[in-house]
Amino acid sequence: MVLPEICKSIEPYFMLSDDKLKTIVKYFCEEMNDGLAAYGHDVAMVPSYVPGVPDGSEQGTFLALDLGGTNLRVCEIKLFGENKFEIKQQKYKVSDALKQGEARVLFDYIADSVDAFLTDIGSDLTTDDNEPLHLGFTFSFPVEQTAIDRGSLLTWTKGFNAKNAQGKDVVLLLQDALDRKHIHVRCSALVNDTVGTLLSRSYQHGPALIGAIFGTGTNGAYIDRTSTVKKLGDDKIAALEAGGEHAGEYMVINTEWGAFDNKRRCLPASIYDNKLDRESINPRKQAFEKMVSGMYLGEITRNILLHLIDSRLLFDGNSSKVLNTHYGFDTAFVSRVEGAKDDAEVRTAIQSMLGVESQYIQAGDIELVRWAVGIVAHRAAYLAATAIAAIVLHTEPNRREQDKKAIDVGVDGSVAEFLPNFESRVREALKIVLGEQEKIITIGLAKDGSGIGAALTALTAKKALERKA
Ligand code: BGC
Ligand code: MG
Repeated sequence: MVLPEICKSIEPYFMLSDDKLKTIVKYFCEEMNDGLAAYGHDVAMVPSYVPGVPDGSEQGTFLALDLGGTNLRVCEIKLFGENKFEIKQQKYKVSDALKQGEARVLFDYIADSVDAFLTDIGSDLTTDDNEPLHLGFTFSFPVEQTAIDRGSLLTWTKGFNAKNAQGKDVVLLLQDALDRKHIHVRCSALVNDTVGTLLSRSYQHGPALIGAIFGTGTNGAYIDRTSTVKKLGDDKIAALEAGGEHAGEYMVINTEWGAFDNKRRCLPASIYDNKLDRESINPRKQAFEKMVSGMYLGEITRNILLHLIDSRLLFDGNSSKVLNTHYGFDTAFVSRVEGAKDDAEVRTAIQSMLGVESQYIQAGDIELVRWAVGIVAHRAAYLAATAIAAIVLHTEPNRREQDKKAIDVGVDGSVAEFLPNFESRVREALKIVLGEQEKIITIGLAKDGSGIGAALTALTAKKALERKA
């Protein structure tokens, strides 16, 4: 079948040329440098105060909290050393009312969940003396960190919008809630999920350079020379390099790449992207995330399909309740169609996941839906690669010895895990941008980074406290 004319005008926004890819990477490198040089940039380049990656020998039992994906999770993590760990966890649902209500209510709910977890599950976690339990808090939102256990919320993302949290220290918000309820837990580390993923991948697999999340949202962390984080100022850099409290010559940096190109200088924003942004709860923010991450791929697809329907090119001009509903279906549909073995499977997905009546689905419609899904998934992966490539290029002059011959990238999140062809497309785009250098890059899933990373950071913090005492 020949695709309708309209598709030809849509495609350039999704099938990025080699030049376009390279231009995006160039802008990416610029924005990363800006974020390292001064505060207040969209790509915030947040110092994590985590001095390096673990080597797999770390041991101990820790409590971890994970807020920022689909669920709230409370975990007990046992690190056994020898790259081994065990995790016990419980998920708690975070309703839209909690996400968008008062922050105090949200943090009370989090504290209650910790309490419930300790009562029901975390039985081994009792301490003999009066020592509080150490908790690592994986908080997957942009936070300006000032220490390993301090950081104020810059902005909410991914459907969260709780009031009276922005600008506040999220560790204090949590600790106050725990204290109000007399829960004997001390939040000793604040961790972004990407930092957690980098640590977790390194713990299990050997030293990685980059940790990335392609899930509900997207973001990446990597290891840089502390001296590169110029906005810290010479004195602080010198103190950190001297092996001060938490860092040394290198530090893990949380890029917050989801906010790349909020000014829209180079991202290929189609009318479908602009509609999505305009209708979102955070317009003009997270521009990159809105083209790459799982929260949005279904919605971009929905916007394209609606345009085709309204142009009477799809389903004979008929829509459905799901298709007419904002965020009516999610990336699971994209994954299902991308992975479909044959047309029958796509037809089933259209009926069951989009609610389109069978009588309206013509043979050509299947191909059109496959095409729409395909371009959205393709662009997400190619853009994901631009972020990774930018870090590879940025770190080139400063890489640690072990990262010179091999660059390992740990990834987690529903898009990385479940969207078919994601990794192969990422590699394709990496090759276009990096040429030969693509060959030294390995990419591997680092499941549960949020939990294990939080435990590893809590361990770092605990050791620093012990040294101080
Ligand atoms: C947040 C990041 C987070 C990413 C992945 C983004 O929306 O700003 O802090 O790492 O989602 O969870
Ligand atoms: Mg997560």
